[in-house]
Amino acid sequence: MSIADLTAPTPEHQMLRDAVRAFVAAEVEPQALEHDRAERFNLPLFRKLGSLGLLGVTVPEADGGAGMDATAAVIAHEELSAADPGFTLAYLAHAMLCVNNLAHNADAAQKRRWLPKLISGEHVGAMGMSEPGAGTDVMGMKTTARRDGDHYLVSGRKMWITNGAQDDQGTPCDLMLFYARTGGPDERPQISTFVVERGMPGFAVGQKIRDKTGMRASNTAEMVLDDCRIPAANRLGDEGSSVKHMMRNLALERLTLAAMSLGIGRRALEVMVRYADERQAFGKPLSFFGQVQRHIGESYAELMACRAYVYDTARRLELDGYGMRLDTDGAKLVASTMGKNVADRAMQVLGGYGYVGEYVVERLWRDAKLLEIGGGTNEAHQKNIARDLSKGGFPWG
Ligand SMILES: Cc1cc2nc3c(=O)[nH]c(=O)nc-3n(C[C@H](O)[C@H](O)[C@H](O)COP(=O)(O)OP(=O)(O)OC[C@H]3O[C@@H](n4cnc5c(N)ncnc54)[C@H](O)[C@@H]3O)c2cc1C
Repeated sequence: MSIADLTAPTPEHQMLRDAVRAFVAAEVEPQALEHDRAERFNLPLFRKLGSLGLLGVTVPEADGGAGMDATAAVIAHEELSAADPGFTLAYLAHAMLCVNNLAHNADAAQKRRWLPKLISGEHVGAMGMSEPGAGTDVMGMKTTARRDGDHYLVSGRKMWITNGAQDDQGTPCDLMLFYARTGGPDERPQISTFVVERGMPGFAVGQKIRDKTGMRASNTAEMVLDDCRIPAANRLGDEGSSVKHMMRNLALERLTLAAMSLGIGRRALEVMVRYADERQAFGKPLSFFGQVQRHIGESYAELMACRAYVYDTARRLELDGYGMRLDTDGAKLVASTMGKNVADRAMQVLGGYGYVGEYVVERLWRDAKLLEIGGGTNEAHQKNIARDLSKGGFPWG
């Protein structure tokens, strides 16, 4: 068995990787620096992902998707992120946090209603879990949905929502899947999932968040739900039953965020190795010097270890299943820091050239940091791993 058995277990996975890699070289790479600088999401490019089948990559074929697995999702994120992590984050928020969530938690009528335009790219979707006062402490969310006949009245704010705003003018996304309290005591609230659509009164962009360190090619916004009347038909699943939805989707979110770090690490390593071979100092290529070799050697070994862990976790993750918290937390915990460290070493090896945009690694370096925060902070992963090991024992024999 080789690493390729994990990273491309079937010919379909290899075809997917080849297709995404070719698309990235032709279309994603050339626009990445410009969109980062302008803090602008590339909507036309995003729509092209629909034609490639990537926007519904994990949606069953019966529902109009590509019907692929978690490994395919990891491949797509790794390849896209090697060129443009910011754009990839917007893709992830749409295809994993919104579309995959709908595909695995909505009923048949809801899927027919929302999935086709999300899968084609005509509509952009987002997912609202975090709030201004509750991130890691997700059960501390304050957004509340109160039943009112065949509607719910929803009030609250969702913070840091990728794709929440579609542009600089404050146009909200077409659709946001979000979590809200529908009852229960403060310390153990019942959580339900809803879909709010653009145009519903009371649904608006509070603020587009500017001047982010990285991931600037994706829009991030605070979203406001102000006495928003949402039809009961827009609730996914039974009232109060959404913690399971959330946990299931979070596992795929962590895994695909880890895949983004693989893309960042891989690209940074490639840039570092080429530069170290080409650049001369003291009459020798940089790659001759032991301290530079250490940057390269450690980066390669850490990247390969993370690749094996991320793809092995993907192989075991059932999109309809539960119970993959331990290793999705573990994979993201090590991969996010690997991506950050490899980008940092690449910048160090490139010296002053590494510090400017043209040489790519400074953008990767800025983007890499988010992956230690978004989709769960490193401390949250550590907390979950410690709990799961003490409750569930060790996963080896
Ligand atoms: C660019 C970007 C895009 C994002 N996109 C989305 C999105 O699309 N949808 C969405 O819902 N959210 C999104 N988020 C939010 C993201 O998931 C949260 O920022 C993250 O979960 C952390 O929450 P917080 O920022 O409120 O920090 P907090 O939870 O307040 O944490 C602050 C610090 O305290 C630490 N901490 C908190 N609790 C504990 C504890 N029990 N033990 C030890 N340390 C602890 C944290 O680890 C961290 O270091 C995004 C964030 C960013 C920056």
